[in-house]
Amino acid sequence: MTIIVLPDQVIARIAAGEAVERPASAVKELIENSIDAGATSVHVEAIAGGRQLIRVSDNGAGIPGLEIELAFKRHATSKLRATEDLQDLSTFGFRGEALASIAAVSQTTIITRHRDDPMGISLRLNGGQIDHQSPIGAPAGTVVAVENLFFNTPARLKFLKADRTEKRNIQGVVTRYAMAYPHIAFTLKQDEREQFRSSGRGDLADVVAGVFGRVHFKRMIPIESAGQTRIGQAAIAVHGFASLPDLTRSDRTRIALFVNGRAIQDNALSHAITQAYEGMIKSGTFPFAVLLISTPTDFVDVNVHPTKAQVRFREPSQVFSTVQRAVRQALLEADLEQSDVDQWKMDGFTHERIDYRQPSPSFAGTAKDDFFHDADLGTIPETAAAPARPRTLPILRVVGQIGAMYIVAEGPAGLYLIDQNAAHERILYEEMREEQRAGSPLAEPVGDSQTVLLSPEHDIVLGECAEILSELGFEIESFGPHTYVFRSLPRVIAASRLADAFPGILENLSRKDKGIEEAIAALAAVAAVKNGQILSLEEMQTLVAQLERCSSPFASPSGNTTLIRLTREQLALEFRRA
Ligand code: ADP
Ligand code: MG
Repeated sequence: MTIIVLPDQVIARIAAGEAVERPASAVKELIENSIDAGATSVHVEAIAGGRQLIRVSDNGAGIPGLEIELAFKRHATSKLRATEDLQDLSTFGFRGEALASIAAVSQTTIITRHRDDPMGISLRLNGGQIDHQSPIGAPAGTVVAVENLFFNTPARLKFLKADRTEKRNIQGVVTRYAMAYPHIAFTLKQDEREQFRSSGRGDLADVVAGVFGRVHFKRMIPIESAGQTRIGQAAIAVHGFASLPDLTRSDRTRIALFVNGRAIQDNALSHAITQAYEGMIKSGTFPFAVLLISTPTDFVDVNVHPTKAQVRFREPSQVFSTVQRAVRQALLEADLEQSDVDQWKMDGFTHERIDYRQPSPSFAGTAKDDFFHDADLGTIPETAAAPARPRTLPILRVVGQIGAMYIVAEGPAGLYLIDQNAAHERILYEEMREEQRAGSPLAEPVGDSQTVLLSPEHDIVLGECAEILSELGFEIESFGPHTYVFRSLPRVIAASRLADAFPGILENLSRKDKGIEEAIAALAAVAAVKNGQILSLEEMQTLVAQLERCSSPFASPSGNTTLIRLTREQLALEFRRA
């Protein structure tokens, strides 16, 4: 076949396929044009998932009548002059492709009046060819109506998902821009019904609450990076909202990320955010988050993909750690405050739950009338020297033990009650996780060989987890049907009675995903000091000191509260009330 240069119309249609993948991408391009034009109000309408009609109206600057035809030419833009400008973009547009592409694959009508022009203009295109053009009286601003999208590209039309999916995508696009631009009033109407509206008053909290719903928003906390991370000239800052660990989803769809006002998709960054919840949420679940990241414009390359949904950072790891640190910090602080709030809701706790005059029968096992003893019974397994991590809790002074379950301690802000079992689980979990990450799990050889007989169910779990267990320091040999002999064990359970502990670990694992984190959590659960175990003052001090250094000291890996704080103010109020 002879080589020919493709006619413009064909080139336009091919290019259109890149920039306008689906109705939602057209909506995105049109909204971006409105924002670039300085609009403070943007109305979006769609019918049949955008296939029949997409209409975006704005009160921005409008297009001068003399330039209207140019606006629909490929690579025609008012936003970029030279290649140097690419490094310092402050607008969404720069490729000059969107209008040309959209018009090439639809029947598009634009009505626009530039704010300096006395008259507006109306232009109609059919598959990219100008149909009709006439002056028209119109308010300053622009209305673009896109009808029958992809009517002339049947292949693309066939690949579109059900209306419902396209509708949801459009909603996703509009709500994302509304969150990134709280100062712009957005409305979204689909199939004649209003779906979303933002006030344009500039309050991000308000918009996020509107997007996720008030009920969910109540479970979200503000995120604010402390100061800015400086890298040479670059300064990174992040702000927004993220959910408390009790609000999660099984997919990432509720994580909305923006860089310099641009909605982006970045799996590595979503992962960095999810990691901030490590040990607080189940693996395979994801938080809700709306995070607006700002960096100097030359710090991100937005010209990576025609849809501009992906960006490239100059220093990705700096961005990730700034974001992760901000989220982690907010979660830790909220956790502490929340425990106060929850505590406060348990009205009368100080009277009912701790009665200092009358020992409750459930506290049987402790010396009569004496909750604060330091009898040297029971043991906390030896643990490695506290790692040199920064403290996450203030230094606490151990006062004593209640009911062989709770450690009472005093801190700068008030009284702390620590659940010894949950706290120890947390400590062991973080220690083992660190050892495992460093590739050096502490294993201890077993002196006289111990054998364990497993049930057939546990035997299956063992088979499934063999690799993970060996990574944690288990050395196990088969010794006949369902029988195993242990050569070495992870240090934390070396002191436990293996015949009891090991089936317990397998039992815990059989109920969870069989990942390394779950295996460590299962080990921690089995090895942790139990409720009912009386601790010496020294043991309690060791435990509390270790808890102070945990990165998430407020909950056990299985999600139980490790400590409750009663502030001085709460105590004072409680006594004055009484
Ligand atoms: P780009 O946004 O990359 O410049 P587009 O094809 O999206 O390319 O738009 C082409 C030009 O049309 C823009 O540069 C701008 O000057 C003008 N334009 C498009 N939409 C609007 C709008 N809503 N308001 C004002 N001007 C617009
Ligand atoms: Mg554009």
